[in-house]
Amino acid sequence: MCISGMKRIYLDNAATTQAAPEVIEAIQTCFRDIYGNPSSLHSFGLEARGIIESARRKMAAFINASPDELIFTGSGTESDNTVIKGIALSLQDKGDHIITTAIEHHAVLEPIHFLEKQEFKITYLPNDETGLVDPEELKKAITGKTILVSVMHANNEVGTIEPIRELGAVCREAGVYFHTDAVQTFGHIPIDVREMNIDLLSASAHKLYGPKGVGLLYARKGVKITPLLQGGDQEKRRRASTENTPGIVGFAKAVEVAVSEMEKEAVRQARLRDKLIAALLEAVPESKLNGHKELRLPNNVNISFAYVEGEAMLLNLDMEGIAVSTGSACTSTSLEPSHVLTACGVPVELSHGSLRLSLGRTTTEEEIDQVISVLPPIVENLRAMSPLYRKQGVK
Ligand SMILES: *Cc1c(COP(=O)(O)O)cnc(C)c1O
Repeated sequence: MCISGMKRIYLDNAATTQAAPEVIEAIQTCFRDIYGNPSSLHSFGLEARGIIESARRKMAAFINASPDELIFTGSGTESDNTVIKGIALSLQDKGDHIITTAIEHHAVLEPIHFLEKQEFKITYLPNDETGLVDPEELKKAITGKTILVSVMHANNEVGTIEPIRELGAVCREAGVYFHTDAVQTFGHIPIDVREMNIDLLSASAHKLYGPKGVGLLYARKGVKITPLLQGGDQEKRRRASTENTPGIVGFAKAVEVAVSEMEKEAVRQARLRDKLIAALLEAVPESKLNGHKELRLPNNVNISFAYVEGEAMLLNLDMEGIAVSTGSACTSTSLEPSHVLTACGVPVELSHGSLRLSLGRTTTEEEIDQVISVLPPIVENLRAMSPLYRKQGVK
C-alpha cells in the first residue's frame, strides 16, 4: 500500500497511536530484565511487584485517585465490560435500571445490549446535534431502580466533550454509581476523578502513545464490582491473571510523558485542528463539521462531505499516503451508518460521506497543509463522477 519513499501522514490517532520512543525503551528493558511473577515471594517476584506498584502510584496521582483504587486490565474494552456487567451483577438486588447514551463506544453499548436481553431496563439519554448530553435529562431519568449511569468523557468519532462533572454531581446526589469511558481523554485533557464526581473510569494505554493490550479501571473506594475474570488473587481479587508487567510499565511511562506534554500538545493540536477545519469547510462547498465547535477533543476533526462516499475518499487519501477514518470506522465492514452520527441527526447520505481525521503528537503543520491541498480536489473529482451530485444541479 505504501509507495516506497513516500512519506506517510498518520491522521488516525483516535483509532490508535504510535508508541512513544520512551515507552518502547521502558517496555524493552522491563520485558528483558523484570520477568519474575509479581505474585512470587522471591527477589524476582518482589522486583516485578515493586515496579507495578510504582506504576500504579504514578497513574493514581495523575487522576487524583489513590493507588488501591486502580485496577490494571487487558484493554479499554475489558474495563468497560467489567463496569457494565460487574455492577449489574453486584447490584442486581438493588435494581435493574441502567442509564447510558446512544453515542457510547461499542465496548459500552454491546455489554449494555447483552444486559437488555437479560431483562435489565436501559434508558438512552438524548443528545443534541453536537452530541452533548444534558444533566437535566439525566436527573429526570434516574429512578429508585437505577444502579449505574455510564456516559463517555469524550466521543471517539465526533470528539465532543461531555459535562462529566455536572453529570457526576447528579449521580452523586441520587446515590447512583457514575462511570465514564475516558479512553479518548486520558492523557489528552485533564482528569480529576474527585473533582469530577467519577466513581468508575476506563482508560487504555494505546490511545496515549502506550502499548496495545493494557487498560485501566478506576473504581472509587467502596464501589463493589463483581470481577469479570476470576482465578488468582491478583489486583486484590478484582481481576485475576498474571500481571502484564511490561505493558503496565509502558502505560505508566506513557502517562509520565503525557504529564510533561499534555498541556502544550493540547494547545498545539487544537490550533492545527482549527486550521484544518476552517480550510476544508472553506475549500469544499456543502461540507459540514460534526460535533461541537468548542467542547471538542484537541485532536478531532470530523466533517461530512455531501455527495461522496467516505470509503472512496479514504482510499484516495491512502493512495496519497494519508491515513484517515470514515465516519463509520467501527462499522467499516458493514453498510450501517455510524450510530454516533445517526444519534446526532446526521442524515444517512451525509453520514456515509463523513471523514474523521485525528491528529497526534507527531502531526506537523506541513502535514496539515498537505491534507488541505490534497483533500478538496479528491472530493471535487469524486463529485464529478457522482450522478447524485450532477442531478442536484450544483455547479
Ligand atoms: C478505543 C476505545 C475503546 C476500546 O479500547 P481498547 O483498549 O481498544 O479495547 C473504548 N472506548 C473508547 C471511547 C475508545 O476510543
